[in-house]
Amino acid sequence: MPVFSVLVALPAHSRLPALLSYTHPAPLALGSLVRVPLGRREVLGLVWGQAKAADTAHTTADGLDVGKLKAISTVLDGIAPLPASWRELVAFAARYYQRSLGEVALAALPPQLKDWSAEQLARKLKKLAKLENPENSIKNESCSGSVSALNTQKQPEKTLNPAQTAALQAITAAQSQTDSKPLLLFGRTGSGKTEVYMQAAAATLAAAATAQVLVLVPEINLTPQLLGQFRARFAHLGAAAVVSMHSGMTAAERSSAWLAAHSGGARIVLGTRLAVFASLVDLRLIVVDEEHDASYKAQDGARHSARDLAVYRAKLESARLHSVAAGSCTVVLGSATPSLESWQAAQSGRYQLQELPERIGAGQLTPVRLVDMRLQPKGTVISSYLLAALQERIARGEQALLLLNRRGYAPVLSCGECGWKSACNHCSAFQVFHKIDRSLRCHHCGDAQATPRACPECGNLDIAPLGRGTEKLEEEISALLAGVQRPDGQPARVLRMDADSVKGKDGLSQHLEQLHSGAVDVLVGTQMVAKGHDFRRITLVAAINPDGGLFAADFRAPERSAALLMQAAGRAGRDADLSGKAQMLVQTFNPEHPLFTWLMRHDWAGFASSQLQERHMAAMPPFSFQALLRAEARTQEAAQAFLQAACDLGQALVAEGGVMLYAPVPMAMQRVANTERAQLLVEAENRAALQKFLTRWRSQFVSIRSPGLLRWALDVDPAAV
Ligand code: ADP
Ligand code: ZN
Ligand code: ZN
Repeated sequence: MPVFSVLVALPAHSRLPALLSYTHPAPLALGSLVRVPLGRREVLGLVWGQAKAADTAHTTADGLDVGKLKAISTVLDGIAPLPASWRELVAFAARYYQRSLGEVALAALPPQLKDWSAEQLARKLKKLAKLENPENSIKNESCSGSVSALNTQKQPEKTLNPAQTAALQAITAAQSQTDSKPLLLFGRTGSGKTEVYMQAAAATLAAAATAQVLVLVPEINLTPQLLGQFRARFAHLGAAAVVSMHSGMTAAERSSAWLAAHSGGARIVLGTRLAVFASLVDLRLIVVDEEHDASYKAQDGARHSARDLAVYRAKLESARLHSVAAGSCTVVLGSATPSLESWQAAQSGRYQLQELPERIGAGQLTPVRLVDMRLQPKGTVISSYLLAALQERIARGEQALLLLNRRGYAPVLSCGECGWKSACNHCSAFQVFHKIDRSLRCHHCGDAQATPRACPECGNLDIAPLGRGTEKLEEEISALLAGVQRPDGQPARVLRMDADSVKGKDGLSQHLEQLHSGAVDVLVGTQMVAKGHDFRRITLVAAINPDGGLFAADFRAPERSAALLMQAAGRAGRDADLSGKAQMLVQTFNPEHPLFTWLMRHDWAGFASSQLQERHMAAMPPFSFQALLRAEARTQEAAQAFLQAACDLGQALVAEGGVMLYAPVPMAMQRVANTERAQLLVEAENRAALQKFLTRWRSQFVSIRSPGLLRWALDVDPAAV
């Protein structure tokens, strides 16, 4: 009886081995999906290997007694086995991020597969086959939100400008080579990157009937508009040719999209970070748009970086293509503000840099002006410059965007009498005041309650909000603009866009619609507004209070602030006839900060080089490689005790060199939801040393029995330390 090793989803720190053995009377291809008994349940499994028969037919080479093994219950043979390159990607991710194979593999499959019976599956596949028929019209799409008529009209290819042509040629040339480098497409907002992606995708699909393209975008950028743009451009391939994959989809939508990609019916997969694990038959082009975006790094599960996995996946898919002599799979990383990791890779020649230096159809770059808030009356929120600039825009029928990276009404409520502050009872954080429903809400644990009428400590009735968030700014701006009229005689209108106001499936598209239609004059928002949306009539962008990002403890804070400000600057003056009127105002108490010098020059390259120099001198990433061991416990002592024990175990391995262990410390957010958190930093000279150390270290510290410890997690290449 053949014996197969099968991956199942086990709890993160389960004592069971990663691979479980089951029998099955007939041969099974690796990557087959099966259902297997586990304890009293039956679960989804993935056939990972076949045990080699030993001398006797009754034991496997590992000495397992075949007679005692359970049998595979069902083979989901309606679904083709997961391809080898996909399995290699999963194996790499598990190895690199120090997770179990089963956890990574099963998390990469759509959740519904786990529950489907064979009959449900058959029904689903039948439905899918119908959809793939190109005669079905676009109305079958499972896309969320309203794709307006404008977006579904046949959209012709644009004639590329010389820089775009060079970029497209570089991509197709890389695809025809056997040894292709990742391409870093560096071009400001509106420089035509999306057009290059679409034409590269078209060329890729035209080169082979089975070829597929994966386009990754940050969650917030996956708008119905972008999807509509791709669907319209590739409408001739049938309604099911472009599918989307993101966490906002229903389980049913996700399974359909997954099956369409897995069967090869979908030619283009447009998705967020989870889509990097999409099963694809013949992947030949991967695009990672806004590659610097923080949302590519998962903050749970394996904590993988979808950007980094995309780069690795391109290598695996290239190897697959080489074996059939069909060129390479190329990965294109696009950004106006590339991550310093990618910038460094381009400088050192590991990536190939392609630049799109000009904004299409726009005149000069938006001038950036600093407003020295030290010269404004104390307590000023909206400087006189900014107010005048706003009034001017509204009177001309143009739009303005105000950036304030903090949501809610005020970050804390405080009592002027006794000093009480609205601290969260469960976290080391303040509860944020939301005026709209008079609630105090913790943005870390989600705890919410009605705002007290009086100070809970001393009874003082006069408790007041300190500082400001977007909700308060919206209120203040509306008041300041009360008498201001638009050219049509209507009063000026203000719209807020942040995680509180943009909710639900269609929240984002509804907000964008109001802006595009011209119903709104001033948009107030968090970083959400600074990202990839195409706002045509905005001629004023203002950063209300960006100083917080200048002096944060995290060494990546300047990079994040600079990227956000430069992205925001790119929102202004995208129409040529308006670009002459465009301006960015930055209100700051630190006008001499060097970051602003680069911003005023729109010089990301200069900023990146200067930052890299600092990182180099301090041996910070990307010149060193980090991992964090995080621990959560009821008490800080228990969390640190576990880390200290792990640290002691690690010292013996560190002696071999190349790796350094730091002392356990409380995390910056030390307590969340009544859980104490601590971390230990590991730093290495190179990836290989880090990987080698982590693998050996983990196999040792997993067996530490630490009283009071709730859980631990390794975060490889953490986004913040
Ligand atoms: P990015 O993705 O870099 O922000 P897009 O690709 O969205 O830029 O291009 C910005 C705008 O310019 C879009 O409206 C797009 O249709 C248009 N565009 C892009 N390339 C060209 C071109 N070669 N000729 C004319 N218009 C173009
Ligand atoms: Zn008080
Ligand atoms: Zn809390």
